[in-house]
Amino acid sequence: MKSKEVAFPETLHEVIKYFANEDHALGFMKSIRWPDGVVKCPRCGSTEVFFLSTRKIWKCKAKHEKQQFSVKVGTVLEDSPIALDKWLCAFWLIANAKNGISSYELHRSIGVTQKTAWFMLHRIRLAMQNESTEQFSGRVEADETFIGGRARNMHSDKKASIKAGTVGKVAVMGLLERNSPERSSRVKLRVVRNVRRHGLQREIKKEVIKGSAIYTDAFRSYSGLEEEYIHRVIDHAECYAKGHVHTNGLENFWSLLKRGIKGTYVSVEPFHLFRYLDEQSFRFNERKDNDAGRFVKVVAGILGKGLRYAKLIGKKGDDGLPQKATSWWSETWLLNHLGFETD
Ligand SMILES: [Zn+2]
Repeated sequence: MKSKEVAFPETLHEVIKYFANEDHALGFMKSIRWPDGVVKCPRCGSTEVFFLSTRKIWKCKAKHEKQQFSVKVGTVLEDSPIALDKWLCAFWLIANAKNGISSYELHRSIGVTQKTAWFMLHRIRLAMQNESTEQFSGRVEADETFIGGRARNMHSDKKASIKAGTVGKVAVMGLLERNSPERSSRVKLRVVRNVRRHGLQREIKKEVIKGSAIYTDAFRSYSGLEEEYIHRVIDHAECYAKGHVHTNGLENFWSLLKRGIKGTYVSVEPFHLFRYLDEQSFRFNERKDNDAGRFVKVVAGILGKGLRYAKLIGKKGDDGLPQKATSWWSETWLLNHLGFETD
C-alpha cells in the first residue's frame, strides 16, 4: 500500500481525492479497525488469516462459518453495500458540519438515494455516541430545556397549547463542565421523562462528582442539591449572572442546538431526539480539534458498538460469540425500531 507516501487529507476536497484510491480507503479503515496492525478474524479472534488481494477481503484459516470477512465486519458499516470512499466522505461531512446534515443533503453530495443517506446518517450517529462514563467535576452548570413540537403543521389551538406549556415537546437535561486548565468545556445531554426533582437530581448525581460546584437557575427541582454539592443559584427574575454564578454556557449551547435542529431537519421525532443530541454534543465537545481529528474520532467510533449490544441481549452462539450481534444496525433493525423518516 502506498498510503504512507501521501499526506493525510485535511480538507473535503483532499478527502474525496485521497479515498477515491481503494488502497488508501482500505489502509485507513484497517488502521482504525486493527490499530496494532494485526488483522484478527472477527469470528474466532485468530490471527491466522490471509488477504485475498483481488477482492480486498481476508479469509480465516480456522474451520468455521463465514471464514471470509471484510474490514466492515464487526463495525456499524457491516452489511453495507456502499463503498468505503462514500462512507468516508459521509463521515467527514457529518463530523464537520456545524449544524448537522440532512439526508437530502447527504444524498445529493455523495450520490446515494435519500433513503440510503438516511440509513447512513443513523449509523454514523451511533458511531458518534459518547460512551464515556467519566464524571464531570469542578464547576458544572445544570439546566433543562424543551425541544420539538412541529408547530408548523399543527392546528392553531394545538399551537397555543404548545406555546403555553410543553405539550408535544421533549424535556432535555443538560450538564456543562466549564473550562479547566486541563480541558475546554464539554456537555452531556439526556432526554428525560419530565423535569421533576427526582429525575433531574438523579442524572446530576450520576454524572457529577460529589462536592463539585453546581450552578442552576432558581427552578425548584434543583433545590436540595446543596446537601452533596456546592450549589449556587442564579435567579433569572433578578439577573443572568453574578460573578461566575450563571448558566450562560448551557443557555448558549441550547440556542446553538435549536438553531441546528431547525435549520437542518424537517422534523425531529421525539424518539430520534437522543441521536441528534449525541451528534450535537459530539461536535461541541470536539470543537477544539481540527476537521481531520474530528473525522478520525467519528470513524474510530464505529467499533465496539456491536459488543455493547451483544452484552445487552446476552445471547451466545455455539462459537461463544454473540448471536446476531451485528444485526441491530442492519437496515431492517433500524426500520423496525425507528420507522422511516424523511429528514
Ligand atoms: Zn476465524
